[in-house]
Amino acid sequence: MSDARNAKQHKGRCFCGAVQFTVSGAPAGMGYCHCDSCRHWSASPVNAFTLWKPDAVKVMHGADHIGTYNKTPHSYRKWCMKCGGHVFTDHPGMGLIDVYAAVVPDLPYEAHVHVNYQETKLRIRDGLPKLKDFPKEMGGSGAMLAE
Ligand SMILES: [Zn+2]
Ligand SMILES: [Zn+2]
Repeated sequence: MSDARNAKQHKGRCFCGAVQFTVSGAPAGMGYCHCDSCRHWSASPVNAFTLWKPDAVKVMHGADHIGTYNKTPHSYRKWCMKCGGHVFTDHPGMGLIDVYAAVVPDLPYEAHVHVNYQETKLRIRDGLPKLKDFPKEMGGSGAMLAE
């Protein structure tokens, strides 16, 4: 418990503010996902993610406003049922929660990797590693692609 109390907290909220939550400590990873599921669900060309252990994410207000949809057992996508704003996606198989970088504006966002670059619709020449799918330690091939 003392770890959680000392950890730096960042506030997150949905588009209307009905759903409010905090993330504590440092994320397990930050980057961009180019996969078709992220693009289709978010209606944007790329998804900026921050990954957290489930106990680092605490919903403070509006838990009853959170809707959930899981097209696959890998991703439980959550949004605010009042405003439709996306908040995070639970990845139970990975034991991680993807909190969308856009909903935690005071978290210093620093991408380290692009994943699912084989599906990209928006090439980003920022010099960061471009993984074909996922890192090996997350069950992917670990293969790299050119920018
Ligand atoms: Zn909302
Ligand atoms: Zn994705």
